[in-house]
Amino acid sequence: MKTEEIINDSRTILLSDGTFGSGSVICWMEREQRLHNNYTLLAAQKAASILKRDLVIIFILHHYGGEREERHYRFMLDGLTETVKQANRLLLPMTILTGEPVRTITQYCTEHNAAALFTDFNPLRHIRTIKKRLAQELTIPIYETDARNIIPCRSVSPKQEYSAHTLRLKHNRIIDNYVAPVPRLKKGNASNPNPLPDTETLIRTLSVSSRGSSSHPFVPGTTEAKRRLKIFLTEKIGNYATDDRDPNRDVLSELSPYIHFGQISVHHIVNELIKSQISTEGSEKFYDQLVIRRELSENFIYYNSNYDSLKGIPDWGKRTLDFHRGDLREYNYSFDRFENGETDDELWNAAQRQMVQTGKMHCYLRMYWAKKILEWSASPEEAFNTAITLNDRYSLDGEDPNGYAGVAWSIGGLHDRPWSERPVFGYIRFMNLAGCKRKFNVNQFVKRFM
Ligand SMILES: Cc1cc2nc3c(=O)[nH]c(=O)nc-3n(C[C@H](O)[C@H](O)[C@H](O)COP(=O)(O)OP(=O)(O)OC[C@H]3O[C@@H](n4cnc5c(N)ncnc54)[C@H](O)[C@@H]3O)c2cc1C
Repeated sequence: MKTEEIINDSRTILLSDGTFGSGSVICWMEREQRLHNNYTLLAAQKAASILKRDLVIIFILHHYGGEREERHYRFMLDGLTETVKQANRLLLPMTILTGEPVRTITQYCTEHNAAALFTDFNPLRHIRTIKKRLAQELTIPIYETDARNIIPCRSVSPKQEYSAHTLRLKHNRIIDNYVAPVPRLKKGNASNPNPLPDTETLIRTLSVSSRGSSSHPFVPGTTEAKRRLKIFLTEKIGNYATDDRDPNRDVLSELSPYIHFGQISVHHIVNELIKSQISTEGSEKFYDQLVIRRELSENFIYYNSNYDSLKGIPDWGKRTLDFHRGDLREYNYSFDRFENGETDDELWNAAQRQMVQTGKMHCYLRMYWAKKILEWSASPEEAFNTAITLNDRYSLDGEDPNGYAGVAWSIGGLHDRPWSERPVFGYIRFMNLAGCKRKFNVNQFVKRFM
């Protein structure tokens, strides 16, 4: 069997060659935790059909040791429950396994004489390390499909892009080849329904902490994500371009936790946007955020291995922050004061509380929040770590390429240009309370999160 028959588009690559086993094709669902609009599952199903084998989906539950807490796992597992129910409707076998991923996948593939392993593209370091180790352990072919990005990350550019502008130019040249309805997944022939995961028992196996509020407004799962998309396209998108910087107005899609856990596909969102025939400033801006800005983050993480430290920011950012390292800070807060929302700035504290209580901070405030951490920390390195740790710990969409790129943009000038020089920031773009007051009613927001 030729690998070329299995890979016939630029979404799927052969990560590691090997000999097909005699059993099923295994799809390790990792990032794209949904059944429909999922190019990884489609690639695996096509391979299973070519090889005349069954398709089996596995998901590995494991605590990677990052900042993810109980509410992240709960959101993910409840979302996966819906996915398993969909698998049951499509008669596709799907199993949730627990344990260290390399050992668990290797054992499963070996015991079941797997034909081949398919998995999702994910630019984050710990997932790439797992795949490298799997390639050493397994003797079957391992394939990876980019089911997240409209244009696969590797296809749009072979290097780290300088800015949204440079990525947009490359995108626009080839986008017509990539926007299309996603084919439907075919029914399988499993005779027994898959057991549904027991979220409570599974969470207990992880021993994770639970600092963020558990009564956040994000109901997990694909159905809820689609409901939110519908509301966004019918009620909010008209005001998106004018009001997206006002945290008192509810005009954002609020889809990032669902996109992060792969409960909704970006392809589906774009196809629904096209179908809605909305063509306004709002739809253009939304598309730019969802596709260009998000895929710029993927590009940064994929090509820059220092994405989560100050080492990853542009040279001009490093030089200017270094030059201003010794500048006097008006405040110098410890990590705990930031975490507890105990700064002298009520807007900053309210933004921090919004994240802790609701699992998400408004997009505009995220920039202000991170820039103030730079202004009030002992060093840019400390600021970077504080921002990443808090964002990953409390945001439901944390531990995401967008988060690392967002912090590097706010603190290190990534994808930005030098602005006028000021203390502590140097040439990094500055934001202040007066600017926020010009954009929205700060008191109203602060009162909401007292
Ligand atoms: C300091 C900082 C930290 C951030 N941390 C995260 C994070 O952990 N996870 C995360 O998904 N996003 C993060 N962002 C990016 C952005 O703020 C969020 O994607 C956005 O707030 C999500 O809300 P929404 O889905 O309602 O956005 P909408 O405005 O409705 O946008 C729709 C989608 O477009 C994408 N998008 C929007 N804005 C951006 C952006 N600036 N950069 C990249 N993609 C974008 C997201 O996928 C988003 O879900 C961060 C930004 C900053 C400045």
